[in-house]
Amino acid sequence: MANKGQGDALNSGLKTPTYPSNCLAFLNPPTETPVQIAQVRIRVIIVGAGLGGLATAIALASSGHTVTVYEQAPELGEVGAGIQIPSNSTKLLKKFGLDPYLKDYITEPDAIAFRRWQTGRVIGLTRLIPEFRATFGAPYYVIHRANFHSALHRRAVDLGVTVKLASRVVSYETQGPSIELADGSFVSANLVVAADGVKSIARGVIHESGNQPPERTGFAAYRATVDVARIKADPDLAWLLEKSSLNLWVGDQRHVMTYTIGGGKSFNMVLSHPDNTDPSTWDQTTALSDMRREFQGWDERLQKIISFIETTLKWPLMSCAPMTRWTNNRTVILGDAAHAMLPYMSQGAAMAIEDGVALARSLSKISSTTEIPKALAVFERVRIERSGMMQEASLLNGKLWHFPDGPLQQARDEAMHPETLGIPFSHSPNQWSDPATQMWCYGYDTEKEIDKAWECSLAVRSVI
Ligand SMILES: Cc1cc2nc3c(=O)[nH]c(=O)nc-3n(C[C@H](O)[C@H](O)[C@H](O)COP(=O)(O)OP(=O)(O)OC[C@H]3O[C@@H](n4cnc5c(N)ncnc54)[C@H](O)[C@@H]3O)c2cc1C
Repeated sequence: MANKGQGDALNSGLKTPTYPSNCLAFLNPPTETPVQIAQVRIRVIIVGAGLGGLATAIALASSGHTVTVYEQAPELGEVGAGIQIPSNSTKLLKKFGLDPYLKDYITEPDAIAFRRWQTGRVIGLTRLIPEFRATFGAPYYVIHRANFHSALHRRAVDLGVTVKLASRVVSYETQGPSIELADGSFVSANLVVAADGVKSIARGVIHESGNQPPERTGFAAYRATVDVARIKADPDLAWLLEKSSLNLWVGDQRHVMTYTIGGGKSFNMVLSHPDNTDPSTWDQTTALSDMRREFQGWDERLQKIISFIETTLKWPLMSCAPMTRWTNNRTVILGDAAHAMLPYMSQGAAMAIEDGVALARSLSKISSTTEIPKALAVFERVRIERSGMMQEASLLNGKLWHFPDGPLQQARDEAMHPETLGIPFSHSPNQWSDPATQMWCYGYDTEKEIDKAWECSLAVRSVI
């Protein structure tokens, strides 16, 4: 990774190299950036109490703002089973006080193993323990989505956030700004944040055209869990539970990601496969048999686990091209509403959490409410770049993992081989392991990036 932002290293008299290098990084060792309390406290409406909306509520309330979340669902909950919380996200969650709320529910896997589709042979290996804590200063977790969501909700409420359920927003007025609810009432605030997910209506308010609405990617995923007791009782499968690893079988156009959640009680599976048909035409009653057919001929042990699945849900995988704008006056979008992506980097929610923290950081710099648009402009610039790159990385994984057997697949597997042996390597097609991708993905400091962007904008203003 280039030594971007190492200007302070010049205090040592050493000139920052013009070539990409981390050799002077020791002069700027990573320091904890404390949560910044806002100079101007504002009233914020957040639309959507998903992972993104709640994380944003926590970040804003921690900075001293008054936050009300409007959620259309009559009850809170999360569809799906497991979710990975990568180190760039756990670092932020710890800082915002989530650790006590999460501790009873998280699992810290020791590694991610890439496996051949037909045999299950390990072809790539990312060591998470102790490497990720040591390198990025934060663990890599997996958790049940419902537990993650509930932890965020409880933390938000404890910080004074009001969450209003059964409150569907039907329209936005960006100047006020204000929202209109389905019951005909209007609410206004200093800022409206729409975290209303992949089917966002707010996106159309930011850009009249709805600018780059999420599209089908040609892939769909079956999501399911299996009772761990059944795997443990089977001599062919029990080895899978000896370590808390994530296991990823990769093959032609398909892959299966697995890991245990719920304190080791539940085996979580996401089975990705090609499907470009319209989700409204899907028959969920045949999902179980369709899923089994998709993975016929794969590793017999994997097929056995698939045969244990009793219910599954087929899920469309959507992505959009990076939007050019996330803000309109005092209304801003974030999370899946702004950057829906394939889940192949396990970073969709992590990006939403970074968005929330970045927004709070940018707002903490303003000295008057008239500066809100400026804070939004800085936030938008930094986050469009970061999440756009993550969308790109996710799409690339969809190519790298899905080679059919042949020369490309062989070259890929050969390039991952050193990491399976534990010997040094400079690059890897496994983006969890590739050193440059790792530093960019997991070593990212959301708040410092916002600080830098503010410094740049102030410097530009003083030149003008
Ligand atoms: C198969 C799969 C696996 C994934 N795995 C990972 C992973 O391992 N790690 C990771 O970081 N990410 C992962 N993701 C991505 C992650 O799930 C999403 O990025 C994240 O949940 C998005 O959160 P959000 O809050 O932006 O949107 P949502 O979760 O969609 O929340 C939007 C909320 O807004 C509410 N809402 C919508 N419209 C209105 C309205 N008009 N009025 C009021 N409320 C409204 C909705 O009811 C909902 O509660 C995965 C995704 C998939 C599909």
